[in-house]
Amino acid sequence: MKPILKARILIVVTLLSFSHISQAQQYDVLLKGGHLIDPKNSVDEKMDVAILDGKIATVALQIPEDKAKKTIHAQGLYITPGLIDIHTHVFWGTKPDAYISNSYTSLPPDGFTFRAGVTTAVDAGSSGWRNFRVFKEQTIDRSKTRILAFLNIVGSGMKGGPIEQNLGDMDAKLTAMMVKEYPDLIVGIKLAHYYGPEWDPLDRSVEAGVLADIPVMVDFGGHTPHLSLETLLMEKFRPGDIFTHCYANVRGRTSVVDENGKVRPYVVAAQKKGIVFDVGHGGGSFLFTQAIPALAQGFKPNSISTDLHTGSMNGGMKDMLNIMSKFLNMGMTLNEVIKTATWTPAMVIKHQELGHLSVGAVADIAILNLRIGQFGFLDVRNWKMNGTQKLECELTLREGGVVWDLNGMSMPKWEDGTRNK
Ligand SMILES: [Zn+2]
Repeated sequence: MKPILKARILIVVTLLSFSHISQAQQYDVLLKGGHLIDPKNSVDEKMDVAILDGKIATVALQIPEDKAKKTIHAQGLYITPGLIDIHTHVFWGTKPDAYISNSYTSLPPDGFTFRAGVTTAVDAGSSGWRNFRVFKEQTIDRSKTRILAFLNIVGSGMKGGPIEQNLGDMDAKLTAMMVKEYPDLIVGIKLAHYYGPEWDPLDRSVEAGVLADIPVMVDFGGHTPHLSLETLLMEKFRPGDIFTHCYANVRGRTSVVDENGKVRPYVVAAQKKGIVFDVGHGGGSFLFTQAIPALAQGFKPNSISTDLHTGSMNGGMKDMLNIMSKFLNMGMTLNEVIKTATWTPAMVIKHQELGHLSVGAVADIAILNLRIGQFGFLDVRNWKMNGTQKLECELTLREGGVVWDLNGMSMPKWEDGTRNK
């Protein structure tokens, strides 16, 4: 055979074998051997998950390793949709005297989300219609975490002090107009920190919510004189509106559990009619004296969220998985806890494309380790509850790419490498 012909045949054979490989490797990433919990799809068993182009391509009992360019072994671990935290404060900036709105009390999200399995964080009203665009440029456009937002009914957002008491800066129409400019990013209206005796801020928030067809989230309390929790839950709120900080017991707000340790009947009735009870743990809004009796009586949260900011990050709150672990140790099942941090919050914010791992969905995924041992958990007044279960995030994928890998489970061993060491 002539050398040239021989070379040509070799090239053809090589090309054929490469095309064979690329055809066989039809997936980018395969998560193999893990226990999949996907509450939307009622999946709670060992399943393999294959990813292509940042989306879920196949979910099956067995997917062969040779069909994927990269296989990540997840034996003994739980695979869940990327977590959705619907109460955070991430409008970080350096404005003086601006509390949590473009200032120091808010946090850059990527350093707090992925390590806890969170792939979507919703800012809870740090910005209003006047400064939402600044928030978008500074945080939303620059974060790897998917950032969505509740827009504050106060036009200037959550700048603290008298700015949040200004009825003259609470305009339902202008707020709804801004929502309509960014319908993919703004998911709700937020009302917080209003201490006056009127219902006007709440009524205007609901008006904006009706105009934009989105829910209202309320941080209720501190009103002088007192405003009725029953009126808020049973008359003012629409089904789908959100009562955050639900296990708090703060000055000027009726708690969900009464002085005798009983959940108030109208609270149970409100949840039944569709009011959303959100944890919003924060630095001052989660007490075991509320949560433990509530859980014992079957009153569980609809959504678990952090209320992440500098005042909560290093206290009893810590991160999303620490709060989820508290609810596990208070008696909720792992499946329930995962649902309150994935599919339910996705429905609450009307983003049903998120919070599940259906074929075609974005490959935002958390791989969790459920550790068994002796652990302690703190509430916001530093009372401790002991527990035996603790969730830890091993791996987080955002649109199919690794964004957090605690123990390097997705990476090759250094001694197997061929590059310069
Ligand atoms: Zn908050």
